[in-house]
Formats: sequence, C-alpha cells, structure tokens
Amino acid sequence: MSDTSQGPSRFTRAVRAGAATETYRDLVPPIHLTSTYAFTELGQTPQFDYSRSHNPTREVFAHAVAALEGGYDAVVTASGMGALTACVEAMAPERGLVVAPRDCYGGTYRLLSAYAAKGRFDVRFADLTNLDEAAKAVVGAGLVFVESPSNPLLRLTDIAAVTTLAHAAGAQVVADNTFATPVYCRPFELGVDAVVHSATKYLAGHSDVILGVAVSGTPELQAKLYDWCNTLGLTAGAFDAYLGLRGVRTFKLRVEQASANAAALAESLRGHRLVEEVFYPGFGAMVSFRLPSFEAARVFTSALHQINLAESLGGVESIIAHPVTMSHADVPEAARLAAGITDGTLRLSVGVEDVDDLWSDIRQALDAIPS
Ligand code: PLP
Repeated sequence: MSDTSQGPSRFTRAVRAGAATETYRDLVPPIHLTSTYAFTELGQTPQFDYSRSHNPTREVFAHAVAALEGGYDAVVTASGMGALTACVEAMAPERGLVVAPRDCYGGTYRLLSAYAAKGRFDVRFADLTNLDEAAKAVVGAGLVFVESPSNPLLRLTDIAAVTTLAHAAGAQVVADNTFATPVYCRPFELGVDAVVHSATKYLAGHSDVILGVAVSGTPELQAKLYDWCNTLGLTAGAFDAYLGLRGVRTFKLRVEQASANAAALAESLRGHRLVEEVFYPGFGAMVSFRLPSFEAARVFTSALHQINLAESLGGVESIIAHPVTMSHADVPEAARLAAGITDGTLRLSVGVEDVDDLWSDIRQALDAIPS
C-alpha cells in the first residue's frame, strides 16, 4: 500500500478531479457548454466571464493532468499541436535558437521549421539520444524540446541529462510526454520546465477527441501559457475537455493493461521468422517492428482482421501504422533510411483487448505473407 501521508496520489487525484464540487454535488462535474457568463453588476468581473479565457470544465481537466504530471497547473488546447504552439510562443526567445530531436513528431518538425522560415528563431534538429551531440546542440539555445521514446523506433533520451545540459546553456526544456505518459515518465522530476501532451492519445484514450495539454512548472510560466492560449484562441471546447476528463479516470488502468499486452506481443514478435527486428523500450504500449519489404507490410496489414490500419495511437483499440506511407510520408527517403525507417517498418499501438486475440490476429496475418 502506498504512503498517503502526503495526501492522495496523482492517479487518485485524476480519478476524483472535480467530483462533488459544484452546486448539486454532481459526482461527474457538469459540462459547461456556455460561451459567456452573466455579470452580477457593472464593474464586478466574475471568476468566469468568457469561455475562450476560462471554462470550468476545461479547468477541472487541466488540474487533473497537472496532478498526473506533478506540475503547477496546465492549459488545455484544441490539439496537441495547440499545446506545442503555446509552449513555443511562451518560451522560445525572440530570434534565439530552438533545439529539437531529429526524429521528433512530424508536426513538431513542421511547426518549428515554419517559425524558423519566418525568422522568429533558428531551429537546430539533433540526435538528443546521443549526449555528446546533445551537449554541442544546446550551445546558444533558449529552448530545447525532448521527446522520449521517439517515433516510430521508440529510442530513449536521457531527459535528466539533456535537461542538465540545456539548463547549463541557459535554455528552458519542454518534454513531450505523449508516448511515455505519466505512468512511466515524470519529466518534472527530471528537471524540465514544461510538459506537453497530445491528449488525443493516452490521456483521453478512446480515439474520439483531438485535444492537447501544456503543463507548467511555475506560476510565471502558467501565466504566459494562459496569455498565449487566450490571445491565439488555442483553448479547447468544454465538451472535448470533458472527454479528456472522462478519459483520465481510467488512464492508469488502460495504460498498464495496454503495456502488459505490448510487452507480451513484443516477445511473440521477436520469435517469428519473418520479423527482422522488434523495437520495444521495455515499457509502454507502443511496439514497432520490421518486416522484410513494403510488399510484406502490405500483405500483413491487409490480412489483419481485428487491428485496423490507422494514424494515431493511445486508444483502447489496437491500431497499426506504416510510417513510410503515413506519418513519415513527407520525410525524404535518405533521411528516413538514415533514421532506420525502412519500407517494411510498422508501428503498433497496442490496446486493451485480450492479448491472445491480438496475437492470433497478428500471427495469422504474418502467416499470410508469402515466404
Ligand atoms: N506530439 C506527439 C508525440 C504526437 O504523436 C502528436 C500527434 O500524433 C502530437 C504531438 C500532436 O498532437 P495532436 O494530433 O493532438 O495535435
């Protein structure tokens, strides 16, 4: 049993966030579907005045995720890209240098490159899994992004070491914790300044909403993130925030079950003669693997009955993606191959189904590949 002398754990707080706190003591906090709020009197600005700025449903979800991450507070955005945009605006120095992993999420790559093309700052992409390269890359930086495990080959970055290097160079650090989730990684304990999520993935967890969260480590950063969300109109709607809140109630259970399934599938895949390589960092619910060719990947994905070919990850249902034709289609072939992403590479987001059903689906699809 865990020590409760410090109060409820972060997972307990996420399960109970907002319960029985409103007028009728609803166990499930109501969804505040209002754009505006009535003032009681001229000159008396209420706590909530306009939903782009503040919304009670959004705030309950923000507090739940801030608790999960051990941060100060959070902003809830209409997508993970919105959360990344808020961090860039709030934290990237004007005409300074921003550093990001060479194999960061494609949308992050596009966002930072677009800002750099407009002259807002310079961007440097580097292999942050290599600490010698990271030490050189952060020199002169004002902001450093880390993402671990990487996509799609699930390579790990030493977040604490990169953060120490970045801070010594005078840079702030943002960790994208979408893949690892707060079940397996707590970036604030490793020293970072902010954490972002595509809450579309594990936090909401049911493949039914696009949502983002940026968690701040301090009141000063929270104020800046809030200002940029309000100024740019990045904030999420109340219904979407509610779906996020509903998702975090079962977040830990889902992630633990999906991860146990993923560990078992990684083991089974390693034993199959047609699987050239399996990428699994030892935790989490993502497994990537390499089949011999594009044709093998095509036959395999077409033969799957239960597991759909789809973008995204982190839902209760297992899905599979082919990075070369999907998430990494815009990456030039030479860069892709240099990063180890071959035509036969597949990325499996493992869900919470019975693992025996998942393996029998995968095995029959592997058997469909002509040898
Ligand atoms: N960060 C990571 C690691 C992602 O995988 C994604 C989306 O796939 C994003 C950010 C962007 O999130 P969204 O699609 O919710 O905008």
